[in-house]
Amino acid sequence: MTVRHSSSERTDAPRIPDRLRVLVVGAGIAGVSVARGLLRDGHDVAVFERRPDMRVGGGAVTIWSHGSTVLDQLGVDMDGAGQLLSTVRIATSTGRRLINIDVSTIVDRLGGAVRMVPRRVLLDRLLDGFPTERVHCNSRVVGAVSTRDGVQVEFEDGTSVVGDLLIGADGLHSKIRTIVGAPPARPTGWCSWQGLKTVPHITESDVAVQIIGPRGNLGLWPAGGSDLQWWFDMPWSTDFVRPHRPIEMLRANFSGWSDLVDNVLAMLTDDDLAPSPFPHFRHPIPRASRIPAVTLLGDAAHTMPPILAQGTNQALLDTMVLRKALSDVPRGSGATTNELTAALRRYEKTRRRRLSAVSWVTSRQISQSESVLKPAAMVSDSFGTTAMTTFMRWLSHRRIAEEFERGRCDHFAT
Ligand SMILES: Cc1cc2nc3c(=O)[nH]c(=O)nc-3n(C[C@H](O)[C@H](O)[C@H](O)COP(=O)(O)OP(=O)(O)OC[C@H]3O[C@@H](n4cnc5c(N)ncnc54)[C@H](O)[C@@H]3O)c2cc1C
Repeated sequence: MTVRHSSSERTDAPRIPDRLRVLVVGAGIAGVSVARGLLRDGHDVAVFERRPDMRVGGGAVTIWSHGSTVLDQLGVDMDGAGQLLSTVRIATSTGRRLINIDVSTIVDRLGGAVRMVPRRVLLDRLLDGFPTERVHCNSRVVGAVSTRDGVQVEFEDGTSVVGDLLIGADGLHSKIRTIVGAPPARPTGWCSWQGLKTVPHITESDVAVQIIGPRGNLGLWPAGGSDLQWWFDMPWSTDFVRPHRPIEMLRANFSGWSDLVDNVLAMLTDDDLAPSPFPHFRHPIPRASRIPAVTLLGDAAHTMPPILAQGTNQALLDTMVLRKALSDVPRGSGATTNELTAALRRYEKTRRRRLSAVSWVTSRQISQSESVLKPAAMVSDSFGTTAMTTFMRWLSHRRIAEEFERGRCDHFAT
């Protein structure tokens, strides 16, 4: 949809160039995705990252069909990356089968592969063919202010840069989020002990296992080759004291849940647990930015617990919707900052309802007693798969995705 302004508005407000100067703060998956997309759309993009280089650690993330669709729009070759999944098998800690989500059916209905992929592999794929000179490492952003025709970003070394718009993709404790006046993330009272482990001879390499108990839950999701993404979710509070031997704590809580769980617990060491725990946070979904030419994207906009494995997928959907909103700003006709600002607010509004829904679902309590879970075992696999497919279809902004499908563009701007 194109927003029209009166001719007087057009004359008063500064003009914007056709090729927008886009400043992106943060070179995580969200920042690199949106930078890649906007470069493809012909804009002049610079990414600022506080880390000294582009190496990342961390575990694996799940890319659902809607995330895969966006990666395809971005021209990212995911062939052979991580592990394609066929099933998510959910059971209780006593071994009661709850439901098997048929992932192959989701893929058949929605298109777009579902895979587990290590975060570093995903970032490498996103950076493949990306003009890396556009990423400026060792650039910690400390401020941002509105200018007459855009925005100025300030760095901790005292330098600054100006642009037509700023995208805050700087993650959970985002500086840009604070600057635009959005409320901070709140801890949910849970945390994940998690990582990737090499587990030889994974017997069902395309089956993801999730087990729910009364005081915790866990996941064992194959992530390609012998990599297994493992996580153990437990209660957490701000006065949590890290145990001296966390592996003993995990064994005490989760042993006996299944043979595979016992095998993994036997293999894990305190070194594997060193980066954990990761407390779960949840952001209130922000209203309009206080600075007109600034918006948020990815975890900076909507950190949520990892329950539905949606963080990366939602960042990718942000990218798609923001690209679409900016592509609706008329080019070659002297568009003004008003039209650019309207496009940013339209992007935020388009995303808000779906983000609120998915964030709400991820805040629900998973861990339950056996008696509470018992009725869930009566839900058929096909019903559960259909419900999941319907939810994912609704999340995916299919109309916008189809527009991309019709007008793909395959070249980077230089
Ligand atoms: C335990 C856990 C499990 C998860 N599991 C899944 C999953 O299964 N599936 C899924 O889709 N998602 C999952 N996620 C979420 C997922 O990792 C993120 O949602 C996704 O990677 C998007 O991250 P991002 O790029 O927005 O933020 P980040 O990855 O945090 O990147 C932000 C970047 O901004 C940089 N930065 C920060 N401040 C500044 C500054 N002031 N100046 C310059 N640079 C700055 C940081 O260094 C960083 O590189 C999980 C998250 C957690 C914590």
